Amino acid sequence: MVTQRGASAKIINEALDFLNERELEAKPLTWKNQLLLVTNRNPASTDVDRLKDIGVIERLVHPTQKAQLASREFQRENSVINTENVSIGSQKLVIIAGPCSVESRQQLLEVARAVKRLGASMLRGGAFKPRTSPYEFQGLGETALSLLAEARDETDLPVITEVLEPGKVDLVAKYADMLQVGARNMQNFPLLRAVGRSKKPVLLKRGMMATIDELLQAAEYILLEGNPNVVLCERGIRTFEKATRNTLDLAAVPVLRKQTHLPILVDPSHATGSRDLVAPMTKAAVSAGADGVMIEVHPNPENALSDSHQQLDLNEFARLMEELEPVAEAVGRRLR
Ligand code: PEP
Ligand code: MN
Repeated sequence: MVTQRGASAKIINEALDFLNERELEAKPLTWKNQLLLVTNRNPASTDVDRLKDIGVIERLVHPTQKAQLASREFQRENSVINTENVSIGSQKLVIIAGPCSVESRQQLLEVARAVKRLGASMLRGGAFKPRTSPYEFQGLGETALSLLAEARDETDLPVITEVLEPGKVDLVAKYADMLQVGARNMQNFPLLRAVGRSKKPVLLKRGMMATIDELLQAAEYILLEGNPNVVLCERGIRTFEKATRNTLDLAAVPVLRKQTHLPILVDPSHATGSRDLVAPMTKAAVSAGADGVMIEVHPNPENALSDSHQQLDLNEFARLMEELEPVAEAVGRRLR
């Protein structure tokens, strides 16, 4: 329920008592300057009339979907998420570029300077890596976070990095402009709640075995903590197809667009797993209506400590940015 602007605390408390008496759990939540009372089920219509009479409710949102706050029904216009000098979900495409993992100061600064020059709007780089094998490179941790902050200070590119566990959210949020919840953690509910409490913008990646509906419900966990700054990311799902690392579900972009007001990005690097497929799928993602892409770029991909097959080198990234420009224009978007 969206409460009336200016409804007094006394009236809100009365409404909460009224709902509790009817065994409705109601959670007060501030959403973009409006107070919501989020209930676990719909109140009876006579009760709604009563709440309207006492001047509490402005609008009742029926939870026809499990992801209510994320739904188009709840908010008709697209959300634009701002982080530092970047708006995600506007006409200008957001290109997030950078290495899979932060490996050294030199590596990170070289990529950061290059992708900035070539028109990227944000820098990515893994500090805590969710590796399939415990023997693989796990990331430089806090050292990587401070290198990301240094790269941001030099280039003015806001930085995004993954947080793997609830206990590290505050640490990562101290350095990063945007928090990433990786595919493997899409349904780590304590982590979703923790990034929700942090109020930093969050990039939520679709789990490799998750449906679109489950992605939206995972986003709802973050929104319900009072953090409206959620961006969704399609990064491929696991199917029987082995020619690509994952199967990029591009239809997810227009499907999500219909169902949610949240911005939608695509990660063609993890979706395909091969550098030669990144450019065509980036163009396809933009054509499908994505608000931007996240692309892995490394100065020397062959020697990368993680995901060496899919990272673009600096020349490949430069070529992709050139080729993307007319595609962006064709769908009414800007790249720069
Ligand atoms: C990443 O972007 O660094 C990553 C590990 O991606 P995903 O969670 O999509 O596998
Ligand atoms: Mn990677």
